[in-house]
Amino acid sequence: MSKQIPVQDVTPQAKPATGNVDLYASREKIYTRSFTGFYRNLRRFGGAILFLLYFGTVWLTWNGRQAVWWDLPERKFFIFGATFWPQDFILLSGILITCAYGLFFITVFAGRVWCGYTCPQSVWTWIFMWCEKITEGDRNQRMKLDKAPMSVNKFLRKFAKHALWILIGFVTGLTFVGYFSPIRELVIDLFTGEASGWAYFWVAFFTLATYGNAGWLREQVCIYMCPYARFQSVMFDKDTLIVSYDPRRGEKRGPRKKGVDYRAQGLGDCIDCTMCVQVCPTGIDIRDGLQIECIGCAACIDACDGIMDKMGYPRGLISYTTEHNLSGQKTHLLRPRLIGYATALLLIIATLTTAVITRPLAGFDVSKDRVLFRENSQGWIENVYSLKIMNKDQRDHTYVIGAYGLDGIQLGGKQEVQVAAGEIVTLPAQLSVAPEKLPSTTNEVFFTLQSTDDPDIKVEAKTRFIGPRLN
Ligand code: SF4
Ligand code: SF4
Repeated sequence: MSKQIPVQDVTPQAKPATGNVDLYASREKIYTRSFTGFYRNLRRFGGAILFLLYFGTVWLTWNGRQAVWWDLPERKFFIFGATFWPQDFILLSGILITCAYGLFFITVFAGRVWCGYTCPQSVWTWIFMWCEKITEGDRNQRMKLDKAPMSVNKFLRKFAKHALWILIGFVTGLTFVGYFSPIRELVIDLFTGEASGWAYFWVAFFTLATYGNAGWLREQVCIYMCPYARFQSVMFDKDTLIVSYDPRRGEKRGPRKKGVDYRAQGLGDCIDCTMCVQVCPTGIDIRDGLQIECIGCAACIDACDGIMDKMGYPRGLISYTTEHNLSGQKTHLLRPRLIGYATALLLIIATLTTAVITRPLAGFDVSKDRVLFRENSQGWIENVYSLKIMNKDQRDHTYVIGAYGLDGIQLGGKQEVQVAAGEIVTLPAQLSVAPEKLPSTTNEVFFTLQSTDDPDIKVEAKTRFIGPRLN
């Protein structure tokens, strides 16, 4: 028997005259009602921290440069004291895998809390909804305004709302581009007309993307565009925390006067006020069961708890619960799937941390010249190479270059080089070997690089030494 929770799609489907099923239900505009409550405060708190991180980090400086900066032309990624190069992108894959496993773990444990509280699409949509409220009023006023003919009042309110949306979109886009092009110069250049065409393009692109996604598309992104919504049901089990209505307690739903013995009338605790539907950002009725449209934001819990308080009923008619709990069974916190994800996550984090800590602070690439070999003035066989030295540290270093791998091998060219912090130096080098010391036509040799002021910074690179064909 499957242990997964059946997730229903109860979105009304458009029924075209042809009789074909339309995969895209015609959209009805959602007018969300404002509400207060514990989970709203929690979300605001979490959102404020994320906003601070996103908008604030880009302005931090470290050793005279932007602290977090993806320098695409130079192909370097600075994050405070560390510099990452394209060669380190395996670490980026590790970070992405960690995030994926983190999301799996959180989803199995607590359902779609990521969507409801921290997903940028949700966070920005809540902000845009707040702009809507302060410019056009709450749900009923907005519905009235939309139905009313165009007037100066309507025009000004709509104008103010869109202006605010575009302003927030612009600050969001500018900040995002600022992670790739130093923000201080970017801001000055943008406003003085000195920025490159690409800078204008990308700021405009992300402004419009934010405006479109959080202002217009909203729940459509969650329902139709986000793949996570589709595979979440595969990860849920009967012990996963979900937002759910308790039908055993709520049904039979219906209006009643406060203080009457509604049980005697055969009614449950749900007064059918539809407040839970009116606050829902995806416009669903949680009383129909768990649906893929539900982003687990708990707005309906706050709204319903408020109603329960007013009616004098206990809170929790809609709550964070589990399927097992709803059916009167015990919820199992520790279960094999959760333990599996947690173990995998811990292992990946430990491996990634070790890889970052033990990452060599110098990069060393050797490429051999296309000319296979030549004979030098001494009659020795000589191969020419190009050495690329990357100083990944935050301070300058002087390096000594060496070579080994063949008996009597000699290194020609510069043998000591200074490389500034975060810089790359490319220089030519020659290796030469007496012909009688060559064991074969193709031989494995190594270049070494050792910092003179830090014995821990020591790397080597393998390459080939080619000689004439041996008889
Ligand atoms: S808010 Fe609560 S009482 Fe009102 S309709 Fe929803 S579940 Fe019923
Ligand atoms: S049903 Fe409740 S938890 Fe789900 S999206 Fe709507 S308001 Fe949020």
